Amino acid sequence: MIIILLGPPGAGKGTQAQKIQNSHGLVQLSTGDMLRAAVAAGTEVGKKAKDFMEAGKLVTDEIVVGIIADRIEEDDCKQGFLLDGFPRTVAQAEALDKMLDQKALILGAVVEMKVDDEALVDRITGRYTCADCNQGYHEVNLKPKVDGVCDNCGSTNFNRRADDNRKTVSSRLETYHAQTAPLLPYYEAKGVLKTVDGMADIDDVSAQIKDVLSALA
Ligand code: ADP
Ligand code: ADP
Ligand code: ZN
Repeated sequence: MIIILLGPPGAGKGTQAQKIQNSHGLVQLSTGDMLRAAVAAGTEVGKKAKDFMEAGKLVTDEIVVGIIADRIEEDDCKQGFLLDGFPRTVAQAEALDKMLDQKALILGAVVEMKVDDEALVDRITGRYTCADCNQGYHEVNLKPKVDGVCDNCGSTNFNRRADDNRKTVSSRLETYHAQTAPLLPYYEAKGVLKTVDGMADIDDVSAQIKDVLSALA
C-alpha cells in the first residue's frame, strides 16, 4: 500500500505517520526528516537545503525527487510506504507518478488533513521531538506521560526545529497555499483524494485515517 499524507505544516502528518507506521507496517518516508538529517550531517544535499528550510521555502524539486527515488529502492519499502511531506509541488507529484509507473506500483490514497491556518501556528510553535528517537510531542496537546521523559525510549533530551518559529511559520503557510495546495485538484482528478478533519483530537484523526485505509484493503 502506498499512501500520501497531504496537509499544511503542523497539520499532524508526522504524528499520524508515526502511528500508522506502527499499526499498519508501512514505512514513514518524511522528506523533512531526511533533509534535517542531511543538514545535521553536513552533506552536499544538506548544504544546498539549509537556507531554503530556514527561510520556510521549498528545497528544489530535483533534490527531493532524488532523495525519494533512492529511498523507495530500499528493501523496507517493499511492503509499502507512507509519504509524509512529499510531494509538495505538482512537478514532484508528476515525478512520483513516473517512479511508481516504472515500478508498476499503484498509489492507494492521498489523505488530505484539513486544518485551519490559525490552529497551525499554535501547533508549530508548541512542537518538539525526542532527540534520540524522533517521537513527536506538543507543549499543550501531547505531553510525555512523565514530564521530561520520552514515552517511547526514556530519553530526557528533546529538540525544537530551527524553523518552528512564528516568523518562518507564515512563509511556510504561504508556500503551502501557493505551491502545495494545487495538488488537491491534481489528486481529486485521479480519484484518490480522501479528506479527513485534522482539527479533531489526535486519536479521532487516527480513527478517520484508519477508516480510509481499511476501505482500500
Ligand atoms: P512540516 O512538518 O512542518 O510540514 P517538513 O518537516 O515536512 O515540515 O519540512 C520542513 C522543510 O523541509 C520545508 O519547509 C522545506 O523547506 C523542506 N521540505 C520538506 N519536504 C519537502 C519537499 N517535498 N519539497 C521541498 N522542500 C521540502
Ligand atoms: P506536520 O508533520 O504535519 O508538520 P506534526 O505531526 O508534527 O505536523 O504536528 C504538529 C504539532 O501538533 C505537534 O506538536 C503535534 O504533537 C501536534 N498535533 C498533531 N496532531 C494534532 C491534533 N489532531 N490536535 C492537536 N495537536 C496535534
Ligand atoms: Zn524518544
